[in-house]
Amino acid sequence: MPYFICPNCKRRSVDLDGYEGFSTQAVQCRECGFGFLFELLEDYYPAPETGFVVCDRDARVLATGRGVFELTGYRDSDLIGRRVAEALSLSDTSPMDVVQEWGVRKLNQQLAIRTRSGADRLVTVDFFPAYDDDGGVMLAITPR
Ligand SMILES: [Zn+2]
Repeated sequence: MPYFICPNCKRRSVDLDGYEGFSTQAVQCRECGFGFLFELLEDYYPAPETGFVVCDRDARVLATGRGVFELTGYRDSDLIGRRVAEALSLSDTSPMDVVQEWGVRKLNQQLAIRTRSGADRLVTVDFFPAYDDDGGVMLAITPR
């Protein structure tokens, strides 16, 4: 059963009524109206302070959700179109490579990012592969 999560407000949903999979219309969040939902194979419970960053197959940022600014100091417009690993100075990009190559989750990665003010911040990152043809990746970044 596919699960969906809104990268912005983190509302989780299950495709019970076919709404989320309705393919002739852009899927958007029923809670906050965010432009798309991210499909997950298994349900996932983000922390309240977790921020989501959705990337394309080249790991360039497509969208950021609530909480990312608080975590990183970057606004949407600072990040969109940039490679996430460079933009956030991810301390290790190998989990993302695995996720994209093998299409598996990599959870609970203990990494560091650099905030806009130049401070290193310790975070836990969960990486999720996109299951559509775009082959992107989503990062769930939680402070620790
Ligand atoms: Zn939402």
